[in-house]
Amino acid sequence: MDTPVLLPLVSDPPGPAGLLDARRRPLRDLRISITDRCNFRCTYCMPREVFGPAFVFLDRKELLSFEEITRLARLFVAQGVEKIRLTGGEPLVRRDIERLIAQLAAIDGLRDLTLTTNGSLLSPAKARALKDAGLQRITISLDSLDDAVFMSMNDAGVPVSRVLAAIDNAAAAGLAPVKIDMVVKRGVNEDSILPMAEHFRGSGHILRFIEYMDVGNHNGWRMDDVVTAAEIVERLQGRYPLEPVAPNYFGETATRWRYLDGEGEVGIIASVTQAFCGSCTRARLSAEGVMYTCLFAGAGHDLRASLRSGATDSGLAQQITGIWRQRDDRYSEVRAEISAQHKKVEMSHIGG
Ligand code: SAM
Ligand code: SF4
Ligand code: SF4
Repeated sequence: MDTPVLLPLVSDPPGPAGLLDARRRPLRDLRISITDRCNFRCTYCMPREVFGPAFVFLDRKELLSFEEITRLARLFVAQGVEKIRLTGGEPLVRRDIERLIAQLAAIDGLRDLTLTTNGSLLSPAKARALKDAGLQRITISLDSLDDAVFMSMNDAGVPVSRVLAAIDNAAAAGLAPVKIDMVVKRGVNEDSILPMAEHFRGSGHILRFIEYMDVGNHNGWRMDDVVTAAEIVERLQGRYPLEPVAPNYFGETATRWRYLDGEGEVGIIASVTQAFCGSCTRARLSAEGVMYTCLFAGAGHDLRASLRSGATDSGLAQQITGIWRQRDDRYSEVRAEISAQHKKVEMSHIGG
């Protein structure tokens, strides 16, 4: 594999503390998983054979409280984080999430507060409550418009109509533009690419295609199952001519494409075939307070132990900056060289 070229940071300087990791990447984003539970059993994330009735999820007292999450989030923002995404598991299964959103929205210096959900619990009232609490944007996952395909993927009997209603509810509440994330898996939902594009063109929502990834240890990932970004673009181009669009900001995960006929844009997240580790500015916090510096990390750093043993804010801030300074992760760039024995944290544990 070629040595990765680090993108210049000149036009986009690091956060206030000048905090950079070992590869000169600033800390900008924080993804917070607020639960490891989910009401779906997507085959590529929480296969039912593994996450069945006998699976032991985190106990309530192991989860960070909203106050603990907010305290850590404030410290992360002081170190340069501008954007927070709440995720899971399914974040909407955690009770009173609006209370957490209101606390996070009040943090000085936070520019963007968003959430990723499977949409199944997003009623009109819930969408309005999230917006009123201060949520700015939302991403809703949807892998197909075909009920048989979608239900075989979510393995929870949830029909497409429920998620389409959630998208409408989010837009009506003002959480717009809604982003819609579709994981594409070979032989499973690749035929849904064009119908999804057709459906969301001109809707004002932004559809994003995600390459199927080898997250966690249980989805039986094989490179052969990945429909590459190049192939997705080719399929789209065959029907709807597209042109590339410049990124919105440094470190944006999706490459952007615009329909030439003015019907909006789509994004492609090519984490497998076009790794973007060189501009990865994301830290992750699990529901039990472990900080991870990569989606594919084998181990994390326990911040909850420090929180619950009386650490001061400056002690916690030092711990966070120390972890970030040592960060050297670039899993997607070196995937092929990493042994299959490498144990990774589960996606449902730290979110996408
Ligand atoms: N439950 C919420 C949802 O599904 O939107 C939030 C958590 S989920 C782990 C976040 C995102 O990760 C979803 O869009 C999901 O499709 C994506 N994801 C999960 N497993 C994946 C995989 N193996 N490859 C690519 N994306 C994956
Ligand atoms: Fe649940 Fe999201 Fe994972 Fe599907 S992708 S199992 S909805 S956490
Ligand atoms: Fe960031 Fe790790 Fe993904 Fe690379 S593999 S983009 S370092 S999370």
